[in-house]
Amino acid sequence: MAVSTPEADDDALPISGLQHLAFCPRQWALIHLEQVWVENVRTAEGRLLHERADLSGESRRASVRTVRGMWLRSERLRLTGRADIVEFRPAPYPVEYKRGKSKPNDCDTVQLCAQALCLEEMLETAIERGAIFYGSPRRRLEIDFTPELRSRTEELAAAMHRLYRRRVTPAATPGPYCRNCSLVDVCLPEATSHVDAAGWVALQLCFLQQEV
Ligand code: SF4
Repeated sequence: MAVSTPEADDDALPISGLQHLAFCPRQWALIHLEQVWVENVRTAEGRLLHERADLSGESRRASVRTVRGMWLRSERLRLTGRADIVEFRPAPYPVEYKRGKSKPNDCDTVQLCAQALCLEEMLETAIERGAIFYGSPRRRLEIDFTPELRSRTEELAAAMHRLYRRRVTPAATPGPYCRNCSLVDVCLPEATSHVDAAGWVALQLCFLQQEV
């Protein structure tokens, strides 16, 4: 998926890619290297939710200023994207909108943490926590940006850049999570697992290497 930002000619990658990579490296590669995208009910609802949240603007309520659709960028991690909402309380407090329920993995939290890392770099401030608003049930889940979550997010960002440079789509690793993948009919996980040894080796190297 092309980086649709004003800085699209540089090597920054989209923050949203982190959630795809955390979910499944093959899903990330299909979307970001091969530009495959399959719209279904879930992705369409999510896209509409984000389109509404992405409408730029700001408002104020009591002492909280809310900025919608704020552009984010990290030179250190070479990431770029938009925050659904950043509340200034006055400390920045990013809020990401998700249509469904919270997930048993860290896809959403690394995406939110990446937004916080961008904001910290841009605004030269520390951000301790933010929130994810889930549509089911309709409530916020507050996330602490712990050292572990920060490390995990930074490692994923580095791995994403290494995968992007190698441009090899990993083999499928079929699992129960494939049932929730919008690309299952394109990926064909049972048919494509273990057929791409070079891709599998490249993937392992990307996650093992420490240097960016
Ligand atoms: S179907 Fe499974 S292996 Fe294929 S991209 Fe989706 S989650 Fe990954």
